[in-house]
Amino acid sequence: MPKEQLEKKYYLGIDLGGTKILSGLYNRELSFLGKNKKRTKAERGYKSVLERIVRCITELLDDFDVQLGEVAAVGIGSPGSITRDGKVVFAGNLGWKDVSLKKDLEEILKVPVFVENDCNIAALGIYHHELKGEPENMVGIFLGTGVGSGIIINRHLYRGSHMIAGEVGHMVIDLFGEKCNCGNRGCLEVYASRRTIFKKIDDAVCKGEDSILVDMVQSQGKDFSNLRSGDLLKAIRAGDKCVEKIINDVADYVGIAVANVINFLDPDAVMLGGGVIDALEDYIMPILIKRAREYTFPGIPQTLKIAASKLGDDAGITGGAVLALRSSLGKSC
Ligand SMILES: [Zn+2]
Repeated sequence: MPKEQLEKKYYLGIDLGGTKILSGLYNRELSFLGKNKKRTKAERGYKSVLERIVRCITELLDDFDVQLGEVAAVGIGSPGSITRDGKVVFAGNLGWKDVSLKKDLEEILKVPVFVENDCNIAALGIYHHELKGEPENMVGIFLGTGVGSGIIINRHLYRGSHMIAGEVGHMVIDLFGEKCNCGNRGCLEVYASRRTIFKKIDDAVCKGEDSILVDMVQSQGKDFSNLRSGDLLKAIRAGDKCVEKIINDVADYVGIAVANVINFLDPDAVMLGGGVIDALEDYIMPILIKRAREYTFPGIPQTLKIAASKLGDDAGITGGAVLALRSSLGKSC
């Protein structure tokens, strides 16, 4: 390792989401030291989000008495499609089109910055940290505001020929299904995202079904879109049949999507993550795994690992640090 690199002891992983920015500080062995969180406030525009990312970083460094000059590299996961030179081509939920995220952040921070799609870095974090880079092939599927995935083939991220591989949320599972944000009909995301779950509950309640969530919403003066994924588990545990049915459907749809992915790619492991999985893991995973195993091809071992990631919300920042470390050492991811 060059001497200059040795003096730089830290790596930063950033997970940029539609609602929140997470920054994580790691040492050279990629041990986690601490993290910071800020709201994204995407509606204020690109420049403002850039400033908030920088603040999320500088506050964290300040807490640990680390100078920016001691940081070897920053790895950041952004929603949307990302070019090889770190431009965000399009990120719908941030309202971004053709922004030079890598270049702009490097100008402010004076530290090398590497940018990847958010699902790709989450998969990278799970693969290198949780699974220790052991399996040859892995797919990470993430259920949050939307549904996305990151694919590891032959121990490396598979980005596709046009950098958009892994759009599992837009796998069409119902030809006559509801319209999706992408313009197609019947995408998995229409059946399994957090957004859809609360919309379905709202629709069911409007049709006269009972749900404990109605009381929760009324007592807090909110609407369904303000509820958290964790409220769903509370409702199911309290015997809410309406929520239970909707989540069972999600588990079935995602289980079938997992089987499709397994049959198509034949990986060693499929790891699930994202806010919906983190909140509902104990309830949703057994149903989802059972359904996935029913639909996988004969010849695929029933022992193939299908599991919820233990990294939870930290998958993105962990993967960001992996990206920063490997890329700054000239290793591919
Ligand atoms: Zn779609």
